[in-house]
Amino acid sequence: MKGNMMQSQLTLTGIMKHAKTVFPKQEIVSVTADNPQHRYSFAEAFGRAGQLANALKKLGARQGDRVATLAWNDYRHFELYYASSCSGLVCHTINPRLFPEQIAYIINHAEDRFLFIDPMFVPLIEALAGQIKVETLVVLTSKAKMPQSKLALLCYEDFIAEHNENFDWPELDENDACALCYTSGTTGNPKGVLYSHRAMTLHAYASLLPDVFALSASDVIMPIVPMFHVNAWSIPYGAAAVGAKIVFPGPKMADGATLSQLINNEGVTCSAGVPTVWLALLNYLRENNIEIPSLNRVVSGGSACPWAIMDELEQKHGVYTLHAWGMTEMSPLGTFNARVSTKLDKETAKKIRMKQGRPTFGVELRIVDAHMKELPRDGVAFGALQVRGPWVCERYFKQEHSALTADGWFDTGDVATIDPDGYMSITDRTKDVIKSGGEWISSIELENHAVSIEGVAEAAVIGVYHPKWDERPLLLIVKNGKKELDAKTILKSFEGKVASWWIPNDCVFVEQIPHTATGKISKKDLRALFEKHQWSELNN
Ligand code: AMP
Repeated sequence: MKGNMMQSQLTLTGIMKHAKTVFPKQEIVSVTADNPQHRYSFAEAFGRAGQLANALKKLGARQGDRVATLAWNDYRHFELYYASSCSGLVCHTINPRLFPEQIAYIINHAEDRFLFIDPMFVPLIEALAGQIKVETLVVLTSKAKMPQSKLALLCYEDFIAEHNENFDWPELDENDACALCYTSGTTGNPKGVLYSHRAMTLHAYASLLPDVFALSASDVIMPIVPMFHVNAWSIPYGAAAVGAKIVFPGPKMADGATLSQLINNEGVTCSAGVPTVWLALLNYLRENNIEIPSLNRVVSGGSACPWAIMDELEQKHGVYTLHAWGMTEMSPLGTFNARVSTKLDKETAKKIRMKQGRPTFGVELRIVDAHMKELPRDGVAFGALQVRGPWVCERYFKQEHSALTADGWFDTGDVATIDPDGYMSITDRTKDVIKSGGEWISSIELENHAVSIEGVAEAAVIGVYHPKWDERPLLLIVKNGKKELDAKTILKSFEGKVASWWIPNDCVFVEQIPHTATGKISKKDLRALFEKHQWSELNN
């Protein structure tokens, strides 16, 4: 027997209409390339999204066409999100930090017809002009700030100016595509994840749960996580659904001065970003003796959050860090480490909070061994982490074959433990696991300790060939210059913190550690650099 309820489609248009009707006066504040402080209302934002949808329609945009963006977090990008997705087009966000050849590959693979870029990316597109086939290029600025170029560029404000705010938003099917984002995998070409309206809407609902972002109409949310990567973790959708004020930092995403000013001037209560952003913010606050009383929580994801960051945010600023894990293929929400009981002692709380958290309802997790046998949830066994749920990718864009295992799970490429209380802890990427004498060593656990040592700015651990053990861990350290460091003392400090046979065999100081386009440590590059490393006598 079927239920007797209405059939309404779960679409981003639903979120847009709700936000426009219920929270028309709520504010969106942005730093943009052409304005250090732009401010307007939800009503104006969605009105302009209507103008943009009309402009795209006039140009002949057809359902399913890809509308690409190379842009920072600001109000014009927000308008693009809604105008394209809600008019049946696909908003294809491109990460400007990728190599230019990868950007050209992505634009061609996605067959983008329209490309909207921030002014600072004009030289990049000029350099790629012969390699990409885009019909319309629009610069996200006003006429007065239009850059000079040999390309035929349109100005965004002119592009939408003559069009009506009222757009006849189509009735979309919830399974229609709404957005596209390419993963920047370290091997092979980037792969596209094509999100549906249904997945995005359910994901937005889940992101709002009390133990997740817990956003409400009285929150002021500042997404520092870029809108060009996995839809800024859904914040542009979730914030609109509950009517939270949004503060977009534009290109100033790692600038402590701008971030702290925005927090204090706009009363930001919640923010989200990768650990390096919190590091930059904390350094700035410390050096300038600035407080940020309005901020009460931040979400940190993308890579493991060092305890020193969580601790300083909480002890000095009363800001709670919610440690989260996810990936492009998961829209990205997977697990969230919510507030732990205040009754726990600090060491126990720390142990829990260093984990990546519990799966949000909608996401199922399991860990399996090399024979696909499920491993126990005892917090000790670690294996390949697999997931399933309504916002998990089933296949990559334009691929004929499913990306799932024979029994319908998506393999994340991460290695993890799951404990009896449901907490998942990432120990490594599958390809970064260190195999020593047939046993696995977690590089993330070693890195977590290394970054807690005073004087360490950044640390990475990789497996390097060892004649006896096959592979042994090599610790690489970038100093922050605030304390003298020596390799022997650093290695000694691991004693009692990890199993003795996990302690790295060597420690090398480096000027910098290479990163990927999404800000993660590039272990592939490090392994190539240290392939021929000669082990010292420090710990051998
Ligand atoms: P991306 O698809 O670029 O968002 O990257 C997803 C990958 O980032 C995951 O598969 C993890 O390897 C890593 N990652 C994300 N969040 C965390 C976290 N909190 N701790 C450790 N690794 C993380």
